[in-house]
Amino acid sequence: MRTFVYTAHPSRVVFGSGTADRLPDEVRRLGGSRVLLLSSPPLAEASGRVREALGALVAAEFDGAVMHTPVDVTERALSVLREAGADCLVAVGGGSTTGLSKALALRTGLPQVIVPTTYAGSEVTPVLGETRDGRKTTQSSPAILPEAVVYDVDFTLSLPPAMSLTSGINALAHAVEALYSADANPVTDGLALDAISRIARALPRLAADPADRDTRADLLHAAWLAGTCLATVGMGLHHKLCHTLGGSFDLPHAETHTVVLPHAMAYNAPAVPEVMRRIADALGVADAPGGVHDLVASLGGPTSLRDLGMPESGLARAAELATATPYPNPRELTTEGIADLLTGAWHGRRPEGPATTRTKLARLTEQVVASFAQAPDPRVGTLLSDLVRHLHTFVAANDVTDDEWQYAIDFLTRAGEITGPTRQEFVLLSDTLGVSSAVDLLTNSRTPTTTPSAVLGPFYVAGPPEAAHGSDIAAGLPGIPLWADVRVTDTDGKPVKDAVVDVWQSNKDGFYDVQLPDLDGPVLRARLRTDADGRLTFWSILPSPYPIPEDGPVGRMLAGAGRHPYRAPHLHFMIDAPGHRRLVTQLFVAGADYLDSDTVFGVKDELVVDFTPHTGPTPDDRTVEGEWRRLDYTFRIAPLAD
Ligand code: NAD
Repeated sequence: MRTFVYTAHPSRVVFGSGTADRLPDEVRRLGGSRVLLLSSPPLAEASGRVREALGALVAAEFDGAVMHTPVDVTERALSVLREAGADCLVAVGGGSTTGLSKALALRTGLPQVIVPTTYAGSEVTPVLGETRDGRKTTQSSPAILPEAVVYDVDFTLSLPPAMSLTSGINALAHAVEALYSADANPVTDGLALDAISRIARALPRLAADPADRDTRADLLHAAWLAGTCLATVGMGLHHKLCHTLGGSFDLPHAETHTVVLPHAMAYNAPAVPEVMRRIADALGVADAPGGVHDLVASLGGPTSLRDLGMPESGLARAAELATATPYPNPRELTTEGIADLLTGAWHGRRPEGPATTRTKLARLTEQVVASFAQAPDPRVGTLLSDLVRHLHTFVAANDVTDDEWQYAIDFLTRAGEITGPTRQEFVLLSDTLGVSSAVDLLTNSRTPTTTPSAVLGPFYVAGPPEAAHGSDIAAGLPGIPLWADVRVTDTDGKPVKDAVVDVWQSNKDGFYDVQLPDLDGPVLRARLRTDADGRLTFWSILPSPYPIPEDGPVGRMLAGAGRHPYRAPHLHFMIDAPGHRRLVTQLFVAGADYLDSDTVFGVKDELVVDFTPHTGPTPDDRTVEGEWRRLDYTFRIAPLAD
């Protein structure tokens, strides 16, 4: 059991597109009627939109917000605020404008509504960093926390791709450090992992299409979650380093986060391997620090402190500053260790995690996947790559042993050996694992207005004997006689004539003819053609439940799993008509055994039909002693153009 403390920082959040229109309501909720609108010149368009939404509520504006909240800027804004008699702050912008709003709120007690335009996350934290005489000091107070945040994804569309990437990594850093914080708790863990996977998914999509609102919304959502983590738990080495580098070497905020994060993670990784595994899983990579580096590098983001203007001569001092005062961090901080970290970050090296079995496996998987990259048919490349990824994941997740894998190979070998013209063990395997039905479900979903399809099964034999309407395809075999009256129509209900309909089924004991070598010729299988009304009729016998062949490896697999081998009784149909899609399906006998536990998972409710019992006269006046059954069914098949 985990013991933890969780402190929530209450702020009201409005999220969506076009939510700027809600600003007047949010201001009034806070009792405001005279707004000081804060922004910066690059956000003129966004602040214009907010001004328009707020209308007469705007009492004054200040568009001079700059990075690191210098107090002289705050004082200038304060005099504008006082002159206008403002009673509410509305800030449109990134962390810098939010910082100015917080500084004003701290001095005046005014309520704040923040409209974030970056992914920095400051809007949900009670933290303020201010700069006086070039020195940045940070404080935390409930009076700093904004009362309301209006996330309007529309305002993030103008954030250039390069800044979107670095700002997104800034958010990622909050989530990553929350997971190994001394204050970590299950609530922030959940938020952090959600934020990490959203960011990892969104950033590549955003690079491909910066105007995609859904992607922007995903990233903004992640920024909110990550900001909440930053507000709730203490950060570690990474944030300390960025603070030091930003404050003492005047490096840009989000870019510095982007360069440092993988290196800070690699430094901490040996102390928190389990956390790094969770982060790697959320990122969808094998090694978390290397994965973050690769994500940034693949999207053209900054990877070296040198490129941000950091002098190499400053590295030793930065290492000393970052270790001068102790703070909680999972791994002990040494000046030499941090100097090494900074040297790697300065050169832009990819941080190499320890070569664990997991990372070696991931490399192996990628090697195999890469070998399919040149497949002439891209679909072949995709299917093989995905198959390999799943197989490797299966092997790793189950820690498959040599003996187990050899058993699997022997199993397939035996399946091959037993397969012949009248026995298909691989179809049985696919059927009993539900794969045939899974493929069939997808096929079905593509033609929802037709009769549902069902699996082909292992007993179809191409080119069955032609049979006339009304003939008996059971050729006198024992069983309850069955009269089938079948129609084939298109999806509009129009009869389809000349449709070739292959029918096959098991005998009264549950065997197909191909399983009975002593039986003379094909029986209980036939080919009929529909007439001008799309109709055909035939006599047969009521199908019975039957076990799939149990004498091969699939039978042994079922026995090993404690599963029964029975199929619910059914009649197979394969319908081919010119200009139409082929339909392969089965009709199941309503009320029969095994409908709920068919061993190939092939029963669909729409295909369970009445085989109605009758006695007495038959439709074609054939004489039947005792009970006979009647099947009436209309198949709907789709035109090829559908
Ligand atoms: P920022 O607010 O300084 O914005 C960077 C630049 O981008 C500015 O020129 C800004 O005008 C422009 N910009 C912002 N949004 C834009 C948009 N949608 N379209 C076009 N241009 C846009 O950068 P930031 O990274 O959001 O914030 C950095 C500051 O926030 C730092 O001072 C940092 O210390 C602080 N911060 C504080 C906290 C906290 O909890 N106190 C958290 C994160 C960041």
